[in-house]
Amino acid sequence: MKKIFAYEKDAYLTELKTEVIETGSEKGKDFVVLRDTVFYPEGGGQPCDRGWINDVTVSSVRQENGAIRHYVDAPVPSGEVLAELDWPRRYDHMQQHTAQHLVTALAQDRFDWPTKAFHLGNEVSDIELGVSQLSAEQLDALEEAVASEIRAARRVHTSRVAPDRLEKLNVRTRGLPAGHEGPVRLVEIDGIDLNTCGGTHVRWTAEIEAVKLLNIESMRGGTRLYFVAGGRVRRRLAEHEARNIDLRSLLGAPEREFAAAVRSRLDQIQELQHRERMMRDELADAASDALAHRPEDLIEAHFKSGDPAFLQSLAHKLQEKSRTKAALLTAGNEGDGFFVVVAGDRVGCDVQALGRQVAILLNGKGGGTGRIFQGRVRTLAKRKDALALFQLELERD
Ligand SMILES: [Zn+2]
Repeated sequence: MKKIFAYEKDAYLTELKTEVIETGSEKGKDFVVLRDTVFYPEGGGQPCDRGWINDVTVSSVRQENGAIRHYVDAPVPSGEVLAELDWPRRYDHMQQHTAQHLVTALAQDRFDWPTKAFHLGNEVSDIELGVSQLSAEQLDALEEAVASEIRAARRVHTSRVAPDRLEKLNVRTRGLPAGHEGPVRLVEIDGIDLNTCGGTHVRWTAEIEAVKLLNIESMRGGTRLYFVAGGRVRRRLAEHEARNIDLRSLLGAPEREFAAAVRSRLDQIQELQHRERMMRDELADAASDALAHRPEDLIEAHFKSGDPAFLQSLAHKLQEKSRTKAALLTAGNEGDGFFVVVAGDRVGCDVQALGRQVAILLNGKGGGTGRIFQGRVRTLAKRKDALALFQLELERD
């Protein structure tokens, strides 16, 4: 005969004096088996409970060959113990789970959309419906039907029947687990639903408080429908309100205009980026002219507010304008600098080899091709030494 646990008899039992009947360890994690338990092991889309056994944290609970293993953060000695649920978490699960029964029943009976799977998540839950498309109007109609049955405060209760009576009772079931023996547990929402289920539920649909359908996603062969119920509706609304207050002050716009305000800021950023690219190009053009006209063959220049893109653009332009000049160009600040080594095609110099040496000297790294080598460096203080290295390389050839 299958054992019936305390959580199955009374989902509102938050603690239980019981006894450790087995202790063990699995993959380095201690577990205990209790004579009876208030802890729901995971199953049917509902996550397992958490809580404490004699103040030791129970982090996970699983059913293994009919025995319920409570995985604990520290060893629990044999003998009498007090098992306590993390009740707010469990009650939240009861609200989400009962909401799922209601949504599933109404989706099937009023709209002919069968439920294929259920998943109770940390933030939102989802139901996989065997229907390829759902319109916003259909979802509104489903949500309204659910709200109406919550207001009706229908009783939710459990019973047990022999498996051969399931068909006669017209029970909604996705099939019994393999190897099921003995009576089957039924969960009934009066007038709405009769279902095989081993989970935990609230006593009245009114305790669901509210169900908000959120969004849908197309999936192979169906539609995934996300929802929140109970306290989650209020928490989620509170989060939205807090975010709206932040956004109202950040964007200086009322809620209805958030999207337009963000779109306008993004357009501005794009416009500024475009203008910045044009100005960088103009600046690099003017700077390369000035550098190309300098009398010395090895040029050194630093641009405090320059960035890698500017240095590269400048190096390319300088290379085009003077085939006989070489340059060490740097930008940025101590701790976060950039450099470029460039040489015209008539300058005898192995730019890549020299570039690698400069990168080491300036405590950074880089790479390049042909007559240009660029890098990111941590120190610009040894710029003069790098220039001397460059000079030496030019004199050698
Ligand atoms: Zn259930």
